[in-house]
Amino acid sequence: MVCGDALALGPGSLVSVLPDTHVGMAELRFHELGLDLRLVKAVADLGWEKPTLIQEKAIPLGMDGKDLLARARTGSGKTAAYAIPIIQGLLQDKMTLSEQAVRVLILVPTKELGHQVLQMVRQLTTYCARDIKIADISGQADISAQRPILMEKPDIVVGTPSRVLLHINQKTLCLRESLRALVIDEADLIFSFGFEEDLKNLLCQLPNIYQSYLMSATFNEEVKALKELVLHNPVILKLEESQLPDSSQLLQYHIRCEEEDKFLLLYTLLKLSLIRGKTIIFVNEVERSYRLKLFLEQFSIPSCVLNSELPVQSRCHIIAQFNQSCYDYIIASDEHVLGEKGKKRTGKKRKGKSEKGQDSEYGVSRGIDFHNVSTVINFDLPLSVDSYIHRAGRTARANNPGAALSFVASSELPMLQEIEEALGEGGSKGCVLRPYRFPTEDLEGFRYRCRDAMRSVTKQSIKEARLKEIKEELLNSQKLKTYFDDNPRDLVLLRHDKPLHPAIVKPHLKNVPEYLIPPSLRTVAQPLQKRKKKRMHPGSSKAPSAKKGKTQNPLRTFKYNKGTKRRPPAKKQKPE
Ligand code: AMP
Repeated sequence: MVCGDALALGPGSLVSVLPDTHVGMAELRFHELGLDLRLVKAVADLGWEKPTLIQEKAIPLGMDGKDLLARARTGSGKTAAYAIPIIQGLLQDKMTLSEQAVRVLILVPTKELGHQVLQMVRQLTTYCARDIKIADISGQADISAQRPILMEKPDIVVGTPSRVLLHINQKTLCLRESLRALVIDEADLIFSFGFEEDLKNLLCQLPNIYQSYLMSATFNEEVKALKELVLHNPVILKLEESQLPDSSQLLQYHIRCEEEDKFLLLYTLLKLSLIRGKTIIFVNEVERSYRLKLFLEQFSIPSCVLNSELPVQSRCHIIAQFNQSCYDYIIASDEHVLGEKGKKRTGKKRKGKSEKGQDSEYGVSRGIDFHNVSTVINFDLPLSVDSYIHRAGRTARANNPGAALSFVASSELPMLQEIEEALGEGGSKGCVLRPYRFPTEDLEGFRYRCRDAMRSVTKQSIKEARLKEIKEELLNSQKLKTYFDDNPRDLVLLRHDKPLHPAIVKPHLKNVPEYLIPPSLRTVAQPLQKRKKKRMHPGSSKAPSAKKGKTQNPLRTFKYNKGTKRRPPAKKQKPE
């Protein structure tokens, strides 16, 4: 799964329905775009050498005051494509206008995306943070806690349509007089997350004239309808190629395996380090994410779970830590795929939490910027093509390489076919899922230990782990009190919580004896425990001594209990 070199997309891959003057625009650098120096400096700090394609086209148009409809795939740099001209415009406004007011509204479908947009704008305004205030109201904070923030009239407000509308209705936010720009980010998802009605109501509360940016991964019927509603004589920017990078940047594989084999294969890939680098493992249900986490725990493979049950602050924190390379594996449950297939939510009587306590504004495969993900694994194949694209789009972002590997059970074959047909239609050469050639028949030696681990992960242990996780995350959450105010039932649950008994981690499964490694994999395998031995102890400058490591290996020495008859240690002990 080691990927080839990153591919720099050529300027020809962007089709722009642009005025003639813009067609064939030379490749520009940020400092050549006429931006405020504070912006250029912030971009330089981010280490961005030059604009991405969408940025190169969108920034000058945005600065010209044009309405924009941009179809750009995830990871194309579209956040900065609208944020940079918006910040530039605000900095110019500030030179003449003294009154503080909310001038920009950025609508997002999920809280995670709201947080991400906030971070990006903060980074871009590093050198003008005094001039430009930004607030993200998409988070779960109590609405009354957000009132003082809005009273300060931040220049930019980021939020989900329902939360923004709530504030408008409560008169804590008024945009009728001051709004100069509206952004609808991930517009297609705004609909699939059920915000349609809130969005329409919200649009009635805006002034007649303002600049609009509509960013969307797909141009479906709903986005087209929205275009009529919010854009005036827009410039349309779209990437001609498939929504995913081609095979020189993103390698896409599939492998046939039934349920038990999925666990067996994942264990092998991770334990033998056959997949290296940061990896997101997608499953379709929260329950499965914990099953998988507990399964991996049995082998001392650490992973963290990301799902809609966790408080939003924890979710954002997990993503931030993953981006800082605190851990390698995230098991994400992409539950929205289920809703997509079924009935579309109307948006009426929306609540922050669904009946099962899951956050309906959660979306981890959508638009979230996980940094430097080398591999995406679809442990469960998603239930829609769009979902596949969003998941695979978590890797190979910007100009980085990546790989997506899908485990496909026979019941998932029709979906695989749908995905392949849809990606093939994109017309992009090489944008298909290749069979992942792997000697699965050689993994029988691992089967017994995998079955053993799978048996330990009972429904009860999953339930306990789930409860333990949410309890810990809630305690970790900075806004603990606010969360309990919003979710009093959780507090009751926690107060009557029983002691937890998560599945017992079996020390003997931590190591992979060499004789078990299939000969076909010996040259490439790097069993995890070997790498761990080399690690330094925290706070010490020395690696653990080899001697200590030796005595801990049960295959080389034996420890006898008191009273056990001593025998001379076997010179070359053959493993059982
Ligand atoms: P986005 O599509 O906005 O989610 O951005 C995807 C990733 O690309 C983010 O990690 C950005 O920091 C990064 N990015 C955005 N613009 C550039 C650029 N011009 N050069 C390099 N990386 C960029």
